[in-house]
Amino acid sequence: MRPVRVLVVEDEAEFAALLVAGLSHHGVLADAIVEGEQAVQMAHTHAYDVICLDVNLPGIDGFETCRRLRAAEVLAPVLMLTARDAIDDRIAGLDTGADDYLVKPFVLGELLARLRALARRPPPTTAVELRVGDLVLDPRTHRVRRGATEVPLTTKELHVLEVFMRHPGAVLSRFDILERAWDAAFESHSNVVDVYVRALRAKLDRPFGRETLETVRGAGYRLRVDEG
Ligand code: CA
Repeated sequence: MRPVRVLVVEDEAEFAALLVAGLSHHGVLADAIVEGEQAVQMAHTHAYDVICLDVNLPGIDGFETCRRLRAAEVLAPVLMLTARDAIDDRIAGLDTGADDYLVKPFVLGELLARLRALARRPPPTTAVELRVGDLVLDPRTHRVRRGATEVPLTTKELHVLEVFMRHPGAVLSRFDILERAWDAAFESHSNVVDVYVRALRAKLDRPFGRETLETVRGAGYRLRVDEG
């Protein structure tokens, strides 16, 4: 199983450091940052499985951060962290776009269980189309369009494209893509991702005179946000 990747947004430095150490001890890769605005930025450029969001932050608070994440179409599940005396309806009702909440103080085991449960959730298949520039993917009908032109894709090509379109502008490693688009474990040196990226370029970029699926040397691939 690939490691779960978590973004911890927490301004209490010692607590954040404890969390990161505890999580990494259990195979969870965690980045810790302090501010909500920074969190929106990070979540946009990295493919996190879960975002762990403290409610009381300097600058914009956890609620506002969550709203901005959703407004920025970051679909990663959000786990809110809150003090016992600070629970209010917004948290209990999860009406800020958060998926779950955890009351401080909590034991690491409980946090791990929540994170793993959230990371296992399939990405929310919203009724809305995925749209990156003039590229449109309809998750319900499995149809893909570049501008007004419908482009037929195989099921696997569609899965790979969906991974890119759920993380527009983010650099995705071959491993990121493998783990999200294939159910079975693949050898990490497999070049299967390159094969599918080539196929997608041949169908979605080249015929339209575009180069949106970029190779990022030494890192992987990125679907450029291109309004073309
Ligand atoms: Ca705090």
